[in-house]
Amino acid sequence: MKIAFIGLGNMGAPMARNLIRAGHQLHLFDLNTQVLAELAELGSRISESPKHAVEGAELVITMLPAAAHVRAVYLNEDGVLAGITPGVPAVDCSTIDPQTIRDVAAAAAQKGVVVGDAPVSGGTGGAQAGTLTFMVGASLEHFTVLRPILAQMGRNIVHCGDVGTGQIAKICNNMLLGISMIGVAEAMALGDRLGIDTAILANIINSSTGRCWSSEMYNPWPGIVETAPASRGYTGGFGAELMLKDLGLATEAARVAHQPVVMGAVAQQLYQAMSLRGDGGKDFSAVVEGYRKKE
Ligand code: NAD
Repeated sequence: MKIAFIGLGNMGAPMARNLIRAGHQLHLFDLNTQVLAELAELGSRISESPKHAVEGAELVITMLPAAAHVRAVYLNEDGVLAGITPGVPAVDCSTIDPQTIRDVAAAAAQKGVVVGDAPVSGGTGGAQAGTLTFMVGASLEHFTVLRPILAQMGRNIVHCGDVGTGQIAKICNNMLLGISMIGVAEAMALGDRLGIDTAILANIINSSTGRCWSSEMYNPWPGIVETAPASRGYTGGFGAELMLKDLGLATEAARVAHQPVVMGAVAQQLYQAMSLRGDGGKDFSAVVEGYRKKE
């Protein structure tokens, strides 16, 4: 299949490689010409604009940093909607706010084009291994078309509902993750301060009612989970800056909906403080450092 793939960064490039490996012919576009040159060596077509990339394509996938980039790539004069053939399906895999993708989908519908959202979880490791989870917001008909292609880049392809619901699932989950990590960090730090062995405390939590993914698989205390970023200086995980972005999307969506997200807003402030300290590049579990006395 001829697939236009736009946005070839840390996530997009490995996802595109998996599609090339699966035998598809890719039309690529990114503002970064170096990454384009690398992928061209694998036999892909390099394009001069999103409009050029979608010409002749049978499917369009975008993977961009934020909402402004998604609007630009779809709606600009040289954008996706200017070049796409009516009837060709499109899907945006970026993490953005639900309203932006609904706006883009409405603009696309006027041209006879269906756009869905399919944000991912699984990080760059999942993108490379082809084990991402896709949270898909699309009509059932559109989902049925997208599913086999997404399955070549991921392991779990979940239909969440109509366009925008993929983003809703993603930001609600990540808000909860950001909050639960802070809860575990507070409990571990308090236990340490009061004098219990943190390994024993983690064992108790993980066999009691405080147990959650953040305590069990990704404990923020160093040395508790060997494979967690906390045990390697908070490197190579999910950066605090990315968590901050997702919490910003959640709290903004909540503001627009007049829905309280008290814990989400507090979590956002704690990761904001972490970013100000210069720790935004560390894994988000390093939020525990704000609870520990400097030695
Ligand atoms: P990235 O910054 O590494 O890559 C984005 C790419 O988009 C870059 O190559 C950039 O040049 C390109 N780009 C920007 N504007 C463009 C435009 N107008 N036209 C064409 N290309 C343009 O970001 P990433 O880490 O690949 O993340 C992409 C999305 O996936 C983000 O929304 C992010 O929140 C989400 N996400 C990232 C991770 C992760 O671990 N990195 C995990 C899950 C979800």
